[in-house]
Amino acid sequence: MTASDVAQESEETTSPVTEPVIKSEETTSRATERGDQPFSVPILPLKDTVVYPLTVVPLAVGQERSLKLVDEVAAGDRLIGLVAQKSADIQLAGPEEVFEVGTLGKIHQMLKMPDGTIRLVMQGLQRIRVVEYTQHEPYLVAMVQPIPETEETGLEMDALSQNATGLFQQMVNLSPYLPDELVAAAMNLEGPRQLAYFVAMNLRLEMDQRQTFLETDSVAEKLRSLTTLLNKELEVLELGRKIQSEAQEQMTKAQRDYYLREQLRAIQKQLGEESPEEAELQELREKVEKSGMPAESRQEADRELNRLEKVPSASPEHGVIRTYLDWLTALPWTVSTGEAIDVPKARQILDEDHYDLEKIKDRILEYLAVRKLKEERMAEGDVDASAMREPILCFVGPPGVGKTSLGQSIARAMGRKFIRQSLGGVRDEAEIRGHRRTYIGALPGRIIQAIRRAGSNDPVFMMDEIDKVGNDWRGDPSSALLEVLDPEQNKDFRDHYLDLPFDLSKVMFVTTANTLDTIPSPLRDRMEILQLAGYTEDEKVQIAFKYLVPKQRRAHGLRAEEIEFSEDAVRAIVQGYTREAGVRNLEREIASCCRKGAREIAEGKSGKNEVTPEKVREYLGRQRHFNEAAEMVDRPGVVTGMVWTPVGGDIVFIEATAMPGSKGLKLTGQLGDVMRESAEAAHSLIRSRAEQLGIPRDFFDKNDIHIHVPAGAVPKDGPSAGITMATALVSVITGQPVRHDVAMTGEITLRGKVLPIGGLKEKVLGAHRAGITTVILPKRNEVDLEELPQELKDDMTFVPVENIDEVLAVALAKPEQRPAPAPDAVGATP
Ligand code: ADP
Repeated sequence: MTASDVAQESEETTSPVTEPVIKSEETTSRATERGDQPFSVPILPLKDTVVYPLTVVPLAVGQERSLKLVDEVAAGDRLIGLVAQKSADIQLAGPEEVFEVGTLGKIHQMLKMPDGTIRLVMQGLQRIRVVEYTQHEPYLVAMVQPIPETEETGLEMDALSQNATGLFQQMVNLSPYLPDELVAAAMNLEGPRQLAYFVAMNLRLEMDQRQTFLETDSVAEKLRSLTTLLNKELEVLELGRKIQSEAQEQMTKAQRDYYLREQLRAIQKQLGEESPEEAELQELREKVEKSGMPAESRQEADRELNRLEKVPSASPEHGVIRTYLDWLTALPWTVSTGEAIDVPKARQILDEDHYDLEKIKDRILEYLAVRKLKEERMAEGDVDASAMREPILCFVGPPGVGKTSLGQSIARAMGRKFIRQSLGGVRDEAEIRGHRRTYIGALPGRIIQAIRRAGSNDPVFMMDEIDKVGNDWRGDPSSALLEVLDPEQNKDFRDHYLDLPFDLSKVMFVTTANTLDTIPSPLRDRMEILQLAGYTEDEKVQIAFKYLVPKQRRAHGLRAEEIEFSEDAVRAIVQGYTREAGVRNLEREIASCCRKGAREIAEGKSGKNEVTPEKVREYLGRQRHFNEAAEMVDRPGVVTGMVWTPVGGDIVFIEATAMPGSKGLKLTGQLGDVMRESAEAAHSLIRSRAEQLGIPRDFFDKNDIHIHVPAGAVPKDGPSAGITMATALVSVITGQPVRHDVAMTGEITLRGKVLPIGGLKEKVLGAHRAGITTVILPKRNEVDLEELPQELKDDMTFVPVENIDEVLAVALAKPEQRPAPAPDAVGATP
């Protein structure tokens, strides 16, 4: 049994003591009784702790020798000499293994634990020094001598005490493990000695530091060393706190921001101000309120508004909801501009904007009249909505013939907004109907986008290039278009992005196309086709004078007297600078002249501009187009054909050559399958008629024939070049040149019959533009000639034919055989 066992178990010695103050009278009574005389007392070695005088310390005692010691002392004067072991590792420490200086303690409280150990609360009384051990068994007993500290007085002591108290208070405040009551306790201590021990007890010190502190005699010295220790401890605590708070700061920055923002919001609320988010929300609410959207949409908008309120403004979701609400509120749910249709006024507007186009204008006016009647009847309740199902107008024709401007005039006549949306290259249903909102960056389709742009729910909506809508695996846009165009279905058109119905029934849809062939047939069935042909030269000149020049003059801020075009000048532009079915480039060139004229006036070079052909050359540079036919000479094997293209009629030079060889017929150039077959038919026909045509029997065995169709911008196909190719073959084989002022079109059969073709008007217009004066056409197309403008009938000779012999007779005629050009030579035969 040794005392070391006890100390080992005194693990609570460093825990805070909340009742530390011991009245000095009581504590020192016994020591003073004895004065400084040595006396005998049982010794309890302590592990890991030093007990100071004037302090209260809990101790746990468990070893047998210590229990015996306590038992015996408790029955007597309850005094024990408490000395620290030199090393905590030693078991059953003997006199050599403990320090000489210790503290005389008195058992203040004693508690027997169920496990047989004892808890003591010891009061430290005074310092003692062991003089001599007098007993080793069953426990240590020694003679000890009290050694009172040197207690200085004076100003320095006061300062030291105050300083120590202050530092101690700071330490308690900073320390996470010392209870705040210690601050109050420190204020109530009696004198510097008690202060010194009290502070030392609560400081975290090494064992040897504790022992040294106890052994220091001078209280002033004790306080000085404490000051140093306290400062060091404070520094450590400060640093710890800083590290802790930095870590915390990083961790909680996001949270803190959130709280700050919340606080800001609260403050702003208190001040009656609005946060930006709230202002935004409020603005959106007002927009929703004002938009006049129908109940279903309103519900959805409100739901989104509520979501927006909850989603933090920094999150991407916030942006998505916002954009959606922007779309919803920007749509013209209730905005209409249309007026009651006034047919005479519409007539007037169409005339104001367009030259001629009588048939088209009539058809538009009929359409408007019917619509007006139906609208009135519907208002009276005589007909229902299904009767409103009117075909959609579709303007078909080459570029620049006024399709768009007709649409604009219709809108003007009806007091409606006008919007255009090109459908060229649309291959995906989503382009019409939009993408679902779940896609990143989703947007409404072209229809809803255009409606938003229009800003009203009843615009005239022109869908351009409906002939260029594609379809593939991504979905068929034409079925979506059908729905849009059908008045019975478009009442609640559902865009994927909006995911809400929007009423398109008030929109007046108009479509345009260059060609009918490629319009998907279900769409075509829904449309009323209005064909617009190209213009003749005279018509172009008229349009220029009546419309384009005044329009461009206005557009360039010029007065009528400031720039004037002579007729020759306009004609020069049409002939030398444009080559088109419509008047788009003509308008552009006129604009160009006006710009140059305006500049001269602005620079003060001239006050009035008379635009003559010479001026045109000056303004527009060198002539760009020439009369192709005029440049040609009569040559064997080269024949002028007439072709139709989506951008208007044109001529094409088909060439044939013959050379020794035995490979038969060779075709090159831009030919489609139908055209190839047609070439072969022509070849067979000529072979079968060789004798009749004066061709040697073995010519085809000894010669190869090559037909070439030059590549143009537009691929050519169709059977209508049949007679042209047959003529080229005969010409090259017989060596007879073909008239360069003749152009022809017509399908050929193996027996030499000439069959009718389409697009005659455009073809003739194209040939006329190119300077052709004689046109060979199938007899069965003769009726189409009536549609031609008088100007063309006057300028050109038309030769309707039924078989190849008639063609050859005209095309291969020698100059002396040709008929004199006569204005009324329609149907002339050689
Ligand atoms: P499209 O839509 O058929 O390609 P536009 O309508 O854009 O052609 O016409 C091009 C220009 O020619 C416009 O300025 C238009 O006003 C003008 N234009 C076309 N045809 C006529 C016409 N018959 N009378 C007056 N101007 C015309």
